[in-house]
Order: sequence, then C-alpha cells, then structure tokens
Amino acid sequence: MRVAVLALQGAFIEHEAMLASLGVETLEIRQKKDLLASFDGLVIPGGESTVQGKLMRELGLFDPIREKIKAGLPVFGTCAGLILLADRILNDDRRYLATMDIEVVRNGYGRQSGSFNAQEEFAGIGRIPMTFIRAPYIERVWGDAEVLARVDGKIVAARQGRQLVTAFHPELDADPSVHRFFLEIVKGRSCPNGSAE
Ligand code: GLN
Repeated sequence: MRVAVLALQGAFIEHEAMLASLGVETLEIRQKKDLLASFDGLVIPGGESTVQGKLMRELGLFDPIREKIKAGLPVFGTCAGLILLADRILNDDRRYLATMDIEVVRNGYGRQSGSFNAQEEFAGIGRIPMTFIRAPYIERVWGDAEVLARVDGKIVAARQGRQLVTAFHPELDADPSVHRFFLEIVKGRSCPNGSAE
C-alpha cells in the first residue's frame, strides 16, 4: 500500500512520519507528474487552505486531484485539508475541491485564542487526544456525510464514503488511531454502514 501526501505547504512531513511509523510507504505530491505514480490514498495536510488551494491551481494539480477523489481515491484532509474538501465555506467566498457534503467555518475558534487541546470520543475509535490550531469546524453535513466526532457541540470530524476529514491534527499527537482508521478506509475494510464494500 502506498499513500500520497500533498506536499505543497503545511504539516505534510508529520503525516509522512506517522504513516511511516505504521509501516506505510509514502510519496510526496509536489507537481503534476507526481500524480502519474500509483498510490492508494491521499493525505491533504493542515497549513493554509488559501495557499494550498492557490498552489494546487497554479501547478495544475487541482483538476486531476479532484477527478481522482470523485473517482473514489480515498482522501484524508486535516484542518486546511478539511477546508479544501468542503463543499461550502460559510465565512469565505472561496471554494476549492468541494468533494464533500460539509459546510465549514474557517478559523472557527477565533484567530488568536484558536489553538487548544481536547480529549473526545471519535466514532469507532474511542476517546482520543485532539490538537486544534486555528482550526475550522463543520457547521453541518448532508447527503452521505456522517459526523464522527464533536467537541463542545461542534463537529470536528466527518466521513463520506472514502473521504475522511478532521478539524484537528492527529499527525501532531502520538496516538496513531485516526491514521489507522484512514488506512482501513484505504484497504476498503471500513464502510460507513459497517457493510462490506
Ligand atoms: N486556518 C487555516 C486555514 O484556514 C487552517 C489551520 C490549520 O490547518 N492548522 O486554512
């Protein structure tokens, strides 16, 4: 199994390290020709959604990545990655890959005081540490999208088919369970209704 990590900006190295610790081979997507390699899943890291969105467009990565996700490529977006996958951003006119039926609020906890840690239930995993850095939250989900975790009533993790998003940064905590959860999606063993795919 090989998992690609979008490596334009932000916390991509931390995802690579987490995946490597789980014995998964990774490759970095930096330019269009990197997409020619074969891989089974894609991580879109935290960072700045505006910067990553702009770079994806300028480098010609935007449409091919969107098409791959639409065609069923498993994808895991953290923080800025969540924003890039959202169909709607409530407090921003910009719209990026828009492959997930979720509406998000950017910098949802305020800019300065927006970084904090929590411990909450994650569906199918249990209680895990959650690190938030100028994080978005999900205002609502629709269609096939389902809520996986909430903190103080706000949705902070969701899934829609093979797409997984967290508003927090599991790659910055020692607990690898959310990455394991994603790898189960990549292997096709974990389905929204618990049925076999
Ligand atoms: N605030 C950032 C954005 O809007 C996301 C922060 C993060 O990824 N840690 O893109």
